[in-house]
Amino acid sequence: MDATARREYLRAAAQEVGFDVFGIAPVDVDVRADYFRRWIAEGMHGDMTWMEKNPQRRTEAKQVLPEARSIVVVGLNYYQPHPPAAYRIAKYALGEDYHGVLLKRLKKLCTVMRSLGGEQKPYVDTGPVLEKPVAAEAGLGWQGKSTILLQKGFGTWLFLGVIITTLELTPSSKQPNRCGSCTRCIEACPTSAIIAPYQLDARKCLAYLTIEHQGAIPLAYRFALGDRVYGCDDCLDVCPWNRWAQNTKEARFAPRPHPVLRDTLAWTEEEFVEHFRGSPIKRLGLHRWWRNALTVLGNTGSRDDLPAVLKLINHDDAMVADHACWAEEQIRQRLRKQEIA
Ligand code: SF4
Ligand code: SF4
Repeated sequence: MDATARREYLRAAAQEVGFDVFGIAPVDVDVRADYFRRWIAEGMHGDMTWMEKNPQRRTEAKQVLPEARSIVVVGLNYYQPHPPAAYRIAKYALGEDYHGVLLKRLKKLCTVMRSLGGEQKPYVDTGPVLEKPVAAEAGLGWQGKSTILLQKGFGTWLFLGVIITTLELTPSSKQPNRCGSCTRCIEACPTSAIIAPYQLDARKCLAYLTIEHQGAIPLAYRFALGDRVYGCDDCLDVCPWNRWAQNTKEARFAPRPHPVLRDTLAWTEEEFVEHFRGSPIKRLGLHRWWRNALTVLGNTGSRDDLPAVLKLINHDDAMVADHACWAEEQIRQRLRKQEIA
């Protein structure tokens, strides 16, 4: 089998194990390393300090697997509409954690690749590879102005998996950037986190602030957070390339029931872990869940939410107490305005 026949054989195998898109990038793929290093140097990654470690491993696949010859990139569609609920969770986190689902399929594909004589290193997004620029180089789509990978068929709703391999595989053709004059994602961002086309300041991004950020939500962003308890899809929801999005076939991504927000303020650690077992939200921990929930209740809560909020006002964790005070103040101000009106 030559390098092109091997690629096509693996394309069929990837489809067989349940991936929706597949492509090959050359091992010396251009991942815009200078841009990545500048982004880190300017501190735009915020608290995500793990991104500072081993920059060479992130930008050179041969640092991970010296004999590597190619990079396989696969995508799995996770689109589904937001379920009707009193608050929003980003679509990617509505159901089961995608890391396990993807890794299982990647390992099946690695078994096929091993039968062709390859040695492989599979990664979901916790690995050393900058998966979005690599996926663009592998012809899966293009990085849009929001910095997300877009694909003509599935839009912005793809989980990406990467396999660094010693197999020689013919690289796929790159897709042109089809953003054109569109700027919808930039205009839709509630915090102006897309500071210029193709440049995201994570420190301003609600997805970062509600998921990765460790401390209190800065006051400047609490109103903009609105009803988003975990993540933000605004720049994705408005993308015109999502008009052909199809519902995911993966039943494990189906939405779990949203608990009543004020009820979660009385949860114990065990109840939090039990509710979010198998969900990406579990990694947040109870106190940061409360931080986010209290911000949402500050923005949307009613008189009925006040008793649950007040119970956290003297909490030992200063971040929780601060957010409870803020939420109480916002709810009371809203009630005062309603009384005057
Ligand atoms: S996820 Fe939300 S806050 Fe972040 S860049 Fe997109 S629209 Fe802006
Ligand atoms: S919203 Fe427009 S500019 Fe933004 S990624 Fe989609 S096509 Fe590109």
